[in-house]
Amino acid sequence: MEWWVSMPKLELHAHLNGSIRNSTLLELARELGEKGIIIFSDAECVLLKNDRSISESLKLFELIHLLTTNHKTITRITKEVVEDFAAENVVYLELRTTPKRNDSEGMSKRSYMEAVLEGLRSVSTVETDIFRGSDVEGSHGNGHSQRKKIYVRLLLSIDRRETREAAMETVQLAMEMRHLGVVGVDLCGNPMIGEWTTFWPVLEFAREQGLLVTLHCGEVPNMEEINAMLDFLPARIGHACCLKQEEWKKLKSYKIPVEICLTSNIRTETISSLDIHHFADLYNCKHPIVLCTDDSGVFSTTSSREYAIASSAFGIEKREMFELARNAIGFIFAGDGVKLELEQIFDLAAERLQF
Ligand code: 5GP
Repeated sequence: MEWWVSMPKLELHAHLNGSIRNSTLLELARELGEKGIIIFSDAECVLLKNDRSISESLKLFELIHLLTTNHKTITRITKEVVEDFAAENVVYLELRTTPKRNDSEGMSKRSYMEAVLEGLRSVSTVETDIFRGSDVEGSHGNGHSQRKKIYVRLLLSIDRRETREAAMETVQLAMEMRHLGVVGVDLCGNPMIGEWTTFWPVLEFAREQGLLVTLHCGEVPNMEEINAMLDFLPARIGHACCLKQEEWKKLKSYKIPVEICLTSNIRTETISSLDIHHFADLYNCKHPIVLCTDDSGVFSTTSSREYAIASSAFGIEKREMFELARNAIGFIFAGDGVKLELEQIFDLAAERLQF
């Protein structure tokens, strides 16, 4: 694994609440258990289970969300998640999360996001570049420019359970927080719930306002929705597991980059085995793809591990995997200045790494 860790990587599809350390989740569950809010042993069984279907995984998020309801915890998990990705040599992270309202904790969607931002500011193991306005110095930290650095940008997720009004509130928030590193919006949540028609006007509005849009697309074989999503021409899509011939043709002709999450797809049984995974076809026809973790905590994976798995499952050499990671610079939602700096990071790494 050492080599895969040392290779710089970009993470473009990571859900905050899916990327929490297991040790932190267990600690939070123990605290709630002691307060009598949950039964710790039940929570422990659910948290430690490994093979979950997609609906079981989405149910697990209900427990995780119960453990992460207050601002302090949101700040803590954000800090830890960024530090964990940085330790994996992820040099650019687009972290997505669903802003949540929780009246009993005095939490609004805005204060939820403020807690996330506080978490980004409290990252201490690595220098973090959080935002970059036209005349704003991007790096946050104590000025040690020699330190390892991670660029972090945020995507605000809309959950498919939400109403159009709630989705619009998230988009408004994303627009107001653009100068704080929010670069786009995502549509996620249980693919069996909610209608595309509820969300597309909101997502169209987001795009008109200059936000970039990525969609969870094709996690279930709903061809009508998949076609409508592809015709929307999102800047990227996540997963793309259940497309049929016509939809593959469309995806390829539109050249929409795909965020591929191998372990997640296998664990949730959205794809039955790696040898039939669409990664191979998309890679072979040079379709834009990027390897991502999805939920590194829930699926016990890391960014380095996803690259190692792809290399061995599809017989791709290290240098090609390095190029695959570098090509993802073209699909990030941050601006050209960040893209140039990432190119330089990859150039330097290419001199250092033994292929
Ligand atoms: P959060 O937005 O709370 O930080 O991250 C967890 C949320 O991300 C979940 O409640 C769910 O809505 C979404 N999510 C995480 N993994 C997946 C996935 O594989 N597919 C879909 N559709 N949504 C997911």
